[in-house]
Amino acid sequence: MSIADLARDEVRALPLYAPDLADCPIDVSDNTNLWGASPAAQRALAERPPALARYPSLYSAPLRESILRYVGLDSAAGIGVVTGCGSDDVLDSTMRAFGRTGSRLAFPSPTFSMIPVFARLNGMEPVGVPLTDAFDADAERLVEAGAAITYLCTPNNPTATPLSRAAVEYVAEHARGIVVIDEAYAEFAPEIFIDLVERHERVLVARTFSKAFGLAGLRVGFGVGSQALVSLVERARGPYKVNAMAEQAALASLEESEDSLGWVRARAALAVEMRDRLSAELRARGFKPLPSAANFLCIPTSRAQVLASRLRERGVLVRAMSGLPREIAALSAEGGMALRIGVGPWDVMLRLLNALDEAMQ
Ligand code: PMP
Repeated sequence: MSIADLARDEVRALPLYAPDLADCPIDVSDNTNLWGASPAAQRALAERPPALARYPSLYSAPLRESILRYVGLDSAAGIGVVTGCGSDDVLDSTMRAFGRTGSRLAFPSPTFSMIPVFARLNGMEPVGVPLTDAFDADAERLVEAGAAITYLCTPNNPTATPLSRAAVEYVAEHARGIVVIDEAYAEFAPEIFIDLVERHERVLVARTFSKAFGLAGLRVGFGVGSQALVSLVERARGPYKVNAMAEQAALASLEESEDSLGWVRARAALAVEMRDRLSAELRARGFKPLPSAANFLCIPTSRAQVLASRLRERGVLVRAMSGLPREIAALSAEGGMALRIGVGPWDVMLRLLNALDEAMQ
């Protein structure tokens, strides 16, 4: 028997996550903060490095308190926070906590590519329900899937589009199992859904420090929900998952000052401004970017692969996607292909646009 034969089927069947990671001077492929991290976070690591020889806090108690303040909720109301090594860890732990083998995980499709992967690794069956032509969730079909966990991502990766309040509330009210609302891009969005955790004990809102906060390299994420829910996710997660450096930097970025939260909010506002400017430039070139509520644009185009490789030759890395659901009119018209481009400072966007003009010829 080979080593591979000894492995679990779900693991053997799984390819490694391998996005195109060419080393390009301009990398707008992963929706991170292209302005960097806040001065407060950087100072915290430089001036107050944690004791490397000691373990971090078990379950990030100080950080959890700051997070609750940041999202404007109160533990007195029975609301709690679970942290993780990136929000990936929170999502994965939620499946470990609530996904019995063979149970379903329903999600609007397309969505964050790791979701079906985590589902399979946790022995769950991923069930994708295509977004509507208006890029909203098909709430009734999602509920009909009878899933142990229903995952909603808003603004949604990779489409950048927001879900409607009507659809999100319908799922929160009618789904039988746990409802995860992934708000990785909340800081850029006109509407957020954190209020739902106060009304629904079974709703978990997942967030991250990897996007607006610019701390992707440190891997910190969190989930907010009822105490009953987060304490089960925390058990499935296990202790010591947020390392000491990450906790220090995340705590510093949540301080109410000009160079911490003020910095984050100002950069998020700038990202929204640059996004709309970039979208107008792309429309002037004949593209039809989807209406974005995030810090990136999704541009359906059947030329996604060729444009991405020509951009890479010119030192610009974007994400090319294929195999997107043909049920959605705007995607089907382009053969289920699209480019996903992260938004950053305007000089970076200009270099991207110049390279795109060359690539289009
Ligand atoms: N959710 C969504 C929607 C994402 O786009 C990402 C990162 N691409 C994540 C979760 C994971 O973020 P992290 O693990 O870095 O917190």
